[in-house]
Amino acid sequence: MLNIILFGPPGSGKGTQAAKLKEEFKLVHISTGDLLREEIANGTKLGLEAKSYMNNGALVPDEVVIGMIDSKINENTDSNGVIYDGFPRTVAQAEALNNLMAKYNTEISTVLALQVSDDELKVRLVKRGETSGRADDKDPAVIENRIKVYKTETAVVGDFYSKEGKFNQVAGEGSIDEIYGRLTAQIELVNA
Ligand code: AMP
Repeated sequence: MLNIILFGPPGSGKGTQAAKLKEEFKLVHISTGDLLREEIANGTKLGLEAKSYMNNGALVPDEVVIGMIDSKINENTDSNGVIYDGFPRTVAQAEALNNLMAKYNTEISTVLALQVSDDELKVRLVKRGETSGRADDKDPAVIENRIKVYKTETAVVGDFYSKEGKFNQVAGEGSIDEIYGRLTAQIELVNA
């Protein structure tokens, strides 16, 4: 299986690029943010629990997200592979994902980390807020908090995968096609 983690701060283009990569490499796209928003839209207990964290730009507790991911992987064991978008966001999640990879007899192929400056992230998120309908894209204080949470809780996940020799930085500014080209070049290295 080709298991790709698309890593990077909010607004770095993970969702946009994942949608394109999914088509080309015939992958299942698992976005924990999308799954959580679906739970909220369906009014589930999980959605209710997640909502206040998300509206403040905080992380939803690890055990909630990990349980959700486990069942998604379980549903897709016969796929070509998975593109993870927005997960893992903490070291505990990365460790849990390694355990799940072992459980399903596969492994993470590569981690591709989109690099975008803070100023550019804020511009992109405010712009996305005009059309996304996402409460967490509307409020500048919440946007600030999401970027801060990325730095304090999520960036260390990069070190976790660096130690495993799987962490690759990709310039995340430029046109969508330019960035896509950089990502596919990295994927070809592990998809030989
Ligand atoms: P995203 O769509 O990836 O920007 O995620 C939106 C929000 O969902 C985040 O700000 C978090 O509140 C929550 N979320 C998404 N993925 C995770 C995760 N892996 N761990 C914890 N919270 C998450």
